[in-house]
Amino acid sequence: MDDPQTQRNVDPPPRPGSWSAQGRPQYEFAGAWPFVLVHLLAFGAVFTGVTVTDVVVGVALYWIRMFGVTGAYHRYFSHRSYKTSRWFQFVLAWLAMSSSQKGVLWWAAHHRHHHKYSDKINDVHSPARHGLFYAHVGWLFNNTEETDYSRVRDLARYPELVLLNKYWVVPPALLGFAVWWWLGWSGLFIGFMASTAVLWHGTFTINSFTHLWGKRVYDTDDDSRNSMLFALITMGEGWHNNHHYYQASTAQGWHWWQIDMTYYVLKMLSWVGLVWDLRAVPPHVKNNNKVSELATS
Ligand SMILES: [Zn+2]
Ligand SMILES: [Zn+2]
Repeated sequence: MDDPQTQRNVDPPPRPGSWSAQGRPQYEFAGAWPFVLVHLLAFGAVFTGVTVTDVVVGVALYWIRMFGVTGAYHRYFSHRSYKTSRWFQFVLAWLAMSSSQKGVLWWAAHHRHHHKYSDKINDVHSPARHGLFYAHVGWLFNNTEETDYSRVRDLARYPELVLLNKYWVVPPALLGFAVWWWLGWSGLFIGFMASTAVLWHGTFTINSFTHLWGKRVYDTDDDSRNSMLFALITMGEGWHNNHHYYQASTAQGWHWWQIDMTYYVLKMLSWVGLVWDLRAVPPHVKNNNKVSELATS
């Protein structure tokens, strides 16, 4: 398996074609309009009004799809931290992609790139290197359209995933259509568009804020941090310093008080046999390389 942890480079040059000679990002603004449109359409509710059902559906779709982002895109497809069957793998891919964050191969390839070059100049989204706005959303429109298949050979063995990756817009479009069919325009604006925009920004806090704010527990060679606030927003992804320190673990909260909703759901799925071989952090890894101990030794 492609293990990003063993392939770190020290400080490679920036991604070719992405930066001007003056160091400015080469944004493709034409590619940004669907992203902007989803945000604007959420305000369509000003004209339609909002029902309680619209809000309940929007909130439910936030949490269900956040699980898809963290439990599927991140902990399964990017890090392969547990195992599942081929059919449930497809279900996980569809669920993750209903968040409208492109294909599972695209997501995993960019995420593995992030781990390989974390907070180096080549990192696809480092707030330390490229600023908060760029790390949060700007990078999405700076020459990052393509899927680097060389990083996801383990996933590209499945033709159904490659097909889904190519037609990544299908799962979110069908979900949006279903919500509109059921609840009408106000349902589309709040239940789908607003929910999707908030879900995007919830997800993106991990790329931007958890490399800036929070506590560094482990001495990693990046700026990753642990944050309860972002762990609550993202169902456990806020324990980002733990994760950068030991990526293979299915759980990212490593203590009883480090709330990690994604892990609790995956644990329940393992009880009914849908997923298995959830990987744990070895005790000697968990107890070593702490910033506090290095500072006092
Ligand atoms: Zn990761
Ligand atoms: Zn990170």
